[in-house]
Amino acid sequence: MIQLRKDYILNRWSYIAVERGERPQQVEKDKTENKDNKKSVCFFCPGSEHLTPPEIGRISREDNKNEWQIRWFLNKFPAVEESLKKEITTTNKFYTNGEAFGYHEIIAETPNHEKQLADLSVGEIEKVLKVYALRMKELSIKDGVKYVQIFKNSGAEGGASLAHSHSQLVATNIIPSLVQEKIDALKKYQSCPYCDIIKQEEKSERFIFANQDFISFAPYASRFNYEAWIFPKKHYQNITELKEAEFKNLAKVFQIILFKLGGINAPYNFYLHYSPNEEDLHFHFVIAPRMNIWAGFELATDAFVVKTSPENAAEFYRE
Ligand SMILES: [Zn+2]
Ligand SMILES: [Zn+2]
Repeated sequence: MIQLRKDYILNRWSYIAVERGERPQQVEKDKTENKDNKKSVCFFCPGSEHLTPPEIGRISREDNKNEWQIRWFLNKFPAVEESLKKEITTTNKFYTNGEAFGYHEIIAETPNHEKQLADLSVGEIEKVLKVYALRMKELSIKDGVKYVQIFKNSGAEGGASLAHSHSQLVATNIIPSLVQEKIDALKKYQSCPYCDIIKQEEKSERFIFANQDFISFAPYASRFNYEAWIFPKKHYQNITELKEAEFKNLAKVFQIILFKLGGINAPYNFYLHYSPNEEDLHFHFVIAPRMNIWAGFELATDAFVVKTSPENAAEFYRE
């Protein structure tokens, strides 16, 4: 049977196949890995530092301070640039525009070309998450920046053009419309709906994993096969509010989810949504495996057809 489900708070719908028992299909090995084999130089590997735009920062390796463990720098092919104008103007009632002002950074998560984020230790993933928080802190206070979008593309279908494991960050002069939709929807509730949703999903069939500080579950109206969300149990507005010890627990949740996706070679994206300035959005990560094709129906209706029910997806992650 196909069930129609609405997002917890947004006016977005999914069509979800709720049959039991289907098993995840192994996805064909990623094409990006064949594309940049050893013959071509990897821009993100140690030794290629001179091929990227100037380094912004790095975390040194614990066993060798001269080498880096994590390194971040501006994207060579940026979507947004610092030198552009920050203002958005409306020239008449139909034409609103501006320049693509902002900062577009790459975070190389590991010096090891062969390892993906899921292959890293909890301690190494924890350091990547701390770099997210650090860049968020530094970029969100820059003049003209309204939002800092942290995300990751993994695999060709996830939009990754380089196989070397990396995250990206785009700081922009606008608030993304999806974040704004969430903020607007929240205002219809007396208190944070996500705080309540977390408590309900912890006891539901969609529950994936929890520790003292974080919980993960497959969202009720998933838009992707095997979609997973990660929330801090406390009502934090941004990753920058996490305490030292909480980063490790976030890393543990990430490792469990990414390890399972890695096991079936699933391409994926993940992204962080948080509260820009005066707003009050409970921050969270959305992990979106890219195994279903968005076709005409999805484009036309913004409603998604999902073949793996969130309940089955959660079972896959829990196993
Ligand atoms: Zn590399
Ligand atoms: Zn909350």
